[in-house]
Amino acid sequence: MSTDSTFQPVRTKPWDFGMLSTEEFGEREKELVLQVLEKKRVFRYYGGDKEQSECYRLEKLYRETVGTQYALAVNSGTSALVAALIGAGIGPGDEVIVPAYTYIATAAAVLTARAVPVIVEVDDSLTMDAQAFEAAITSHTKAVIPVHMRGVPCRMDAILDVASRHNLIVIEDVAQANGGSYQGRPLGSFGQAGCFSFQQYKLITAGEGGMLLTNDEKTYARANIYHDSAFVYWDMNGGIQEPPFPGENYRLSEINAALALAQSERIHAIIAKLQHIKSVITAGIGHLEGIRLQTIPDPKGDVSYSLVFYLPTAEQSQAFSKQLSREGIPNGTINNNGFADRHIYKNWTYVMEKRGASENDTPWNCQSYKGNVQYSRDMCPVTLDLLSRAISIGLHQHMTDDDCDDVIRAICKTAGSL
Ligand SMILES: *Cc1c(COP(=O)(O)O)cnc(C)c1O
Repeated sequence: MSTDSTFQPVRTKPWDFGMLSTEEFGEREKELVLQVLEKKRVFRYYGGDKEQSECYRLEKLYRETVGTQYALAVNSGTSALVAALIGAGIGPGDEVIVPAYTYIATAAAVLTARAVPVIVEVDDSLTMDAQAFEAAITSHTKAVIPVHMRGVPCRMDAILDVASRHNLIVIEDVAQANGGSYQGRPLGSFGQAGCFSFQQYKLITAGEGGMLLTNDEKTYARANIYHDSAFVYWDMNGGIQEPPFPGENYRLSEINAALALAQSERIHAIIAKLQHIKSVITAGIGHLEGIRLQTIPDPKGDVSYSLVFYLPTAEQSQAFSKQLSREGIPNGTINNNGFADRHIYKNWTYVMEKRGASENDTPWNCQSYKGNVQYSRDMCPVTLDLLSRAISIGLHQHMTDDDCDDVIRAICKTAGSL
């Protein structure tokens, strides 16, 4: 590794692209948010024509673009997951299979629904390994949550095949892959429910917000009941026939919905740019010896804001990452000792320790649960090994061909120097 004073980094220009979502804020966001203020209706159920509500319009946009029959706007991705699980009838006594690499919210949602998360390995796509999923099924398993991590579509054909052979419910976590697809079909339309997030770190944002999509009327009705503690008692239930049960408040405000609408309108244009950028870079580094690109189950459906490649060992990955930073390209290693990344199961402390909100009544020790799931920080060695050897670079839709060229040259130079 070069440390001499004549060292010339590939890139000296700052790398200041900002976030994918908020960097797009413009006139359309202002226009739609101002409309809400002018209408003086910030709550979707406050009078007026319900089809003029921003929440309703957002739901309609997702129904049409993802192609599901029902959509429910909620206040976060976590809420969407909880409402989907409860909507699908999952609860105490049930096991739900989740991947070892996903945001902790996926597992937390299972626990909030009073079910038990079962953690399984990911493969080199960094999404759920269908064989590991199948091997983890017990007589208590009720559902599986494939997560399209970092915008990369899961192998939905393999996952759906296992799920249907074992009669399991599929709930897709699309929080990180809004606008993605698999074999030409939009993500979020494969499972019994698809759950989206509009939090600021996602591709598009509303500050906070989420969306639940489904083709199943009962799931929709029950999710709807759960998303408002008095939903069916007000004259706004849209003909829901399911018997009411207590819910929480997961309602989305009209202001957040207006922001999500403005952002969602341009999602496919953003993805087209990201896909171009990622394909230019991968074409430029694909030939390098010693680095291996992440497997992408369907590159056409990859949202493409994340570039990941693997080095042969964790040590090489650490050294590569440092050197690439010196070359002026911000990047990260994923599983390292620097920071307890809550996207990695071993850092889901309350899951590892089976801790619930109440000490003596958790999903694990409740009467209904007859299983015996075990967790340990080293239970998914394949996942930990992959994440230890991975280097990730966050891409941005505002990157130019020159920026892509900097990334390619810096990676090639670093690969040559190790
Ligand atoms: C962000 C995220 C969530 C939770 O979404 P919030 O809107 O923050 O509640 C769930 N799953 C994954 C994979 C996420 O990245």
